[in-house]
Amino acid sequence: MEIPTLIPAAPADFKSGFVALVGRPNVGKSTLLNALVGQKIAITSPTAQTTRNRLQGILTLDHAQIILVDTPGIHKPHHLLGEVLVKNAIGAIGSVDLVVWLVDSSVEFGRGDRFVAEVIKQAGTPVILGLNKIDQVGEQNQNSPQTYTEFTEPLGWQAIKFSALTGEGLTELQQICSDRLPLGPYFYPPDQVTDQPERFIMGELIREQILLLTREEVPHSVAVSIDLVEEQPKLTKIMATIHVERDSQKGIVIGKKGQMLKEIGTKAREQMQKMIMGGVHLELFVKVQPKWRSSRFQLADLGYRFEN
Ligand code: GDP
Ligand code: MG
Repeated sequence: MEIPTLIPAAPADFKSGFVALVGRPNVGKSTLLNALVGQKIAITSPTAQTTRNRLQGILTLDHAQIILVDTPGIHKPHHLLGEVLVKNAIGAIGSVDLVVWLVDSSVEFGRGDRFVAEVIKQAGTPVILGLNKIDQVGEQNQNSPQTYTEFTEPLGWQAIKFSALTGEGLTELQQICSDRLPLGPYFYPPDQVTDQPERFIMGELIREQILLLTREEVPHSVAVSIDLVEEQPKLTKIMATIHVERDSQKGIVIGKKGQMLKEIGTKAREQMQKMIMGGVHLELFVKVQPKWRSSRFQLADLGYRFEN
């Protein structure tokens, strides 16, 4: 992720290409991406709509390079940011070699899944049905994966069961994905795991702690900008601003006597230290920026891409 290394020439039978992970919010797309590349590059949480931008995870095997595209969850948009998310997801589906339609196999096939599947069908890209969370499929809902395969069988979509959390079935998933890719070159150096700059991931690690630690009304209106990354002799100094929409949210993020902000900072710093494998000094600021979610100008400013 730091110094670009040379891209080697691929052998004649090498396969490579782009695989989109598509599914309704919370089915485990980001968890799967992290599990497959073996490093935390996408943030995950029990709150829906965690992932905002397209994020590529790069998995390089001996015989193939699989570039995974984590798409924001597809859902009915409520405001401008929502529309952008759906548009980006649909764009991602049309431009890849293979789609993994990811579902939570511990729950029944629902309307949200059908909406996603219909969108994928229209794109015409080859599809694999990924039945995730098999670790959670209990006695009572043993048959629920069938509700998905009833939909996919007539379409000829291959199905595979796995757990992004425990890792069960993921080797088979890698194999199936690489089998389905065309012959091709290395698109990225073999040791690179993501296309995103370190700064973006640092911001995401802070946003993740906010999603995990604060109450429901805050998460969706939070954006983080990294204002400074400075490598000092013994540690890396990082300054970041948390942007919220309202004073009340600022209050929640800061917490009583600054306790919440302190905890967000401590936890995010631990994650950052793992990422850069060194000491981090993190300073956080909170800024109220009314209605940033509805302003294209401000969205672009904070790094959310528009792909029309
Ligand atoms: P996304 O919105 O599709 O990106 O979903 P996330 O990757 O953020 O995951 C949503 C929630 O489901 C998180 O709490 C994950 O820990 C959980 N999760 C993801 N995969 C699995 C799995 O295979 N088994 C179980 N039990 N939970 C999972
Ligand atoms: Mg996600």
